[in-house]
Amino acid sequence: MIFLSKCLAGFPCRMDGKSKGVAPLKALYEAGEAVCACPEELGGLPTPRDPGEIREGRVITCRGADVTEAYRRGARAALEICRQAGCTMAVLKSKSPSCGKGVIHNGRFDGGLVPGDGVCARLFIDEGIPVMTEEEWLGGSGCAQPPSAVNPVEGPSTGA
Ligand code: SF4
Repeated sequence: MIFLSKCLAGFPCRMDGKSKGVAPLKALYEAGEAVCACPEELGGLPTPRDPGEIREGRVITCRGADVTEAYRRGARAALEICRQAGCTMAVLKSKSPSCGKGVIHNGRFDGGLVPGDGVCARLFIDEGIPVMTEEEWLGGSGCAQPPSAVNPVEGPSTGA
Protein backbone atom coordinates (compact mmCIF):
# COMPACT_ATOMS: atom_id res chain seq x y z
CA MET A 1 0.00 0.00 0.00
CA ILE A 2 1.19 3.51 -0.84
CA PHE A 3 0.33 6.77 0.88
CA LEU A 4 -0.36 9.67 -1.49
CA SER A 5 -0.75 13.39 -1.13
CA LYS A 6 -4.46 13.81 -1.67
CA CYS A 7 -4.03 16.40 -4.41
CA LEU A 8 -1.95 13.92 -6.42
CA ALA A 9 -4.86 11.48 -6.30
CA GLY A 10 -7.02 14.10 -8.00
CA PHE A 11 -8.83 15.68 -5.08
CA PRO A 12 -9.23 19.50 -5.10
CA CYS A 13 -7.60 20.10 -1.72
CA ARG A 14 -4.89 22.54 -2.69
CA MET A 15 -4.70 26.06 -1.32
CA ASP A 16 -6.32 27.37 -4.50
CA GLY A 17 -9.10 24.79 -4.34
CA LYS A 18 -7.68 22.80 -7.24
CA SER A 19 -6.14 19.36 -7.55
CA LYS A 20 -2.79 18.31 -8.97
CA GLY A 21 -3.77 14.85 -10.08
CA VAL A 22 -1.21 12.50 -11.59
CA ALA A 23 -3.04 9.92 -13.69
CA PRO A 24 -1.05 6.80 -12.72
CA LEU A 25 -1.20 7.71 -9.02
CA LYS A 26 -4.90 8.41 -9.29
CA ALA A 27 -5.30 4.98 -10.90
CA LEU A 28 -3.48 3.35 -7.98
CA TYR A 29 -5.83 5.06 -5.56
CA GLU A 30 -8.91 4.04 -7.54
CA ALA A 31 -7.63 0.45 -7.65
CA GLY A 32 -7.39 0.40 -3.87
CA GLU A 33 -3.62 0.18 -3.89
CA ALA A 34 -3.09 3.57 -2.29
CA VAL A 35 -4.60 5.72 0.43
CA CYS A 36 -4.46 9.48 0.38
CA ALA A 37 -4.82 12.42 2.73
CA CYS A 38 -4.14 16.14 2.81
CA PRO A 39 -2.14 17.10 5.90
CA GLU A 40 -3.19 20.73 5.73
CA GLU A 41 -6.88 19.83 5.70
CA LEU A 42 -6.28 17.29 8.47
CA GLY A 43 -4.69 20.06 10.48
CA GLY A 44 -7.95 21.97 10.32
CA LEU A 45 -7.14 24.46 7.58
CA PRO A 46 -9.87 25.32 5.06
CA THR A 47 -9.82 24.78 1.31
CA PRO A 48 -9.18 27.13 -0.35
CA ARG A 49 -6.72 28.70 2.11
CA ASP A 50 -3.97 31.23 2.25
CA PRO A 51 -0.67 29.81 1.03
CA GLY A 52 1.90 29.11 3.70
CA GLU A 53 5.65 28.84 3.46
CA ILE A 54 8.35 27.86 5.93
CA ARG A 55 10.40 30.72 7.31
CA GLU A 56 12.85 30.51 10.19
CA GLY A 57 11.39 27.28 11.46
CA ARG A 58 7.75 28.35 11.35
CA VAL A 59 5.01 28.06 8.74
CA ILE A 60 3.71 31.52 7.95
CA THR A 61 0.90 32.42 5.54
CA CYS A 62 1.08 35.15 2.94
CA ARG A 63 -0.90 37.32 5.38
CA GLY A 64 1.56 36.71 8.19
CA ALA A 65 -0.44 34.20 10.25
CA ASP A 66 1.57 31.51 12.03
CA VAL A 67 -0.03 28.17 11.11
CA THR A 68 2.81 25.95 12.30
CA GLU A 69 0.71 24.04 14.80
CA ALA A 70 -1.97 23.24 12.21
CA TYR A 71 0.72 21.87 9.89
CA ARG A 72 2.19 19.77 12.67
CA ARG A 73 -1.21 18.48 13.73
CA GLY A 74 -2.05 17.55 10.15
CA ALA A 75 1.28 15.81 9.67
CA ARG A 76 0.69 13.64 12.71
CA ALA A 77 -2.82 12.76 11.51
CA ALA A 78 -1.50 11.87 8.05
CA LEU A 79 1.16 9.64 9.60
CA GLU A 80 -1.53 7.85 11.55
CA ILE A 81 -3.53 7.22 8.36
CA CYS A 82 -0.37 5.99 6.66
CA ARG A 83 0.38 3.58 9.48
CA GLN A 84 -3.19 2.37 9.87
CA ALA A 85 -3.25 1.47 6.17
CA GLY A 86 0.07 -0.34 6.41
CA CYS A 87 1.72 1.85 3.82
CA THR A 88 5.32 0.99 3.01
CA MET A 89 6.09 4.25 1.23
CA ALA A 90 4.67 7.66 0.42
CA VAL A 91 4.51 9.71 -2.75
CA LEU A 92 4.14 13.33 -1.72
CA LYS A 93 3.64 16.53 -3.68
CA SER A 94 6.88 18.30 -4.44
CA LYS A 95 7.74 21.75 -3.07
CA SER A 96 4.78 21.94 -0.67
CA PRO A 97 5.41 23.29 2.84
CA SER A 98 3.65 20.15 4.06
CA CYS A 99 4.43 17.50 1.47
CA GLY A 100 7.58 18.70 -0.28
CA LYS A 101 10.74 16.63 0.03
CA GLY A 102 14.23 17.95 -0.53
CA VAL A 103 13.18 21.31 -1.98
CA ILE A 104 10.54 23.74 -0.74
CA HIS A 105 9.54 27.36 -1.26
CA ASN A 106 11.78 29.82 0.50
CA GLY A 107 9.31 31.58 2.77
CA ARG A 108 9.27 34.84 0.82
CA PHE A 109 6.37 34.02 -1.54
CA ASP A 110 8.49 35.01 -4.52
CA GLY A 111 8.61 31.58 -6.15
CA GLY A 112 12.12 30.92 -4.91
CA LEU A 113 13.13 27.49 -3.66
CA VAL A 114 15.49 26.32 -0.93
CA PRO A 115 16.69 22.93 0.29
CA GLY A 116 14.38 21.46 2.90
CA ASP A 117 11.36 19.31 3.58
CA GLY A 118 7.75 20.10 4.25
CA VAL A 119 6.43 19.42 7.72
CA CYS A 120 4.62 16.17 6.83
CA ALA A 121 7.39 14.86 4.60
CA ARG A 122 9.92 15.48 7.34
CA LEU A 123 7.81 13.61 9.88
CA PHE A 124 7.35 10.64 7.56
CA ILE A 125 11.09 10.48 6.90
CA ASP A 126 11.90 10.75 10.60
CA GLU A 127 9.44 7.95 11.28
CA GLY A 128 11.05 5.68 8.71
CA ILE A 129 8.51 5.95 5.89
CA PRO A 130 10.32 6.13 2.53
CA VAL A 131 9.21 9.29 0.73
CA MET A 132 9.34 10.17 -2.95
CA THR A 133 8.04 13.21 -4.76
CA GLU A 134 5.69 12.60 -7.64
CA GLU A 135 8.49 13.71 -9.94
CA GLU A 136 10.82 11.04 -8.57
CA TRP A 137 8.07 8.45 -8.76
CA LEU A 138 7.24 9.31 -12.35
CA GLY A 139 10.93 9.27 -13.17
CA GLY A 140 11.27 5.80 -11.72
CA SER A 141 14.18 6.81 -9.57
CA GLY A 142 13.32 4.27 -6.88
CA CYS A 143 12.87 4.88 -3.21
CA ALA A 144 16.27 6.28 -2.39
CA GLN A 145 16.02 8.33 0.77
CA PRO A 146 18.74 10.95 0.71
CA PRO A 147 19.23 12.70 4.01
CA SER A 148 17.74 16.15 3.93
CA ALA A 149 20.14 18.98 4.48
CA VAL A 150 17.62 21.08 6.30
CA ASN A 151 14.97 20.31 8.88
CA PRO A 152 13.15 23.61 8.61
CA VAL A 153 10.58 23.04 11.32
CA GLU A 154 11.55 21.52 14.62
CA GLY A 155 9.41 18.48 15.33
CA PRO A 156 6.59 17.66 14.91
CA SER A 157 6.73 15.10 17.63
CA THR A 158 4.52 12.06 17.28
CA GLY A 159 4.01 12.06 21.00
CA ALA A 160 0.93 13.30 22.79
FE1 SF4 B 1 -1.52 18.43 -1.63
FE2 SF4 B 1 -0.07 18.09 0.55
FE3 SF4 B 1 -0.82 20.54 -0.17
FE4 SF4 B 1 -2.65 18.85 0.76
S1 SF4 B 1 -0.90 19.67 1.90
S2 SF4 B 1 -2.83 20.13 -1.05
S3 SF4 B 1 -1.90 16.91 -0.02
S4 SF4 B 1 0.55 19.19 -1.30
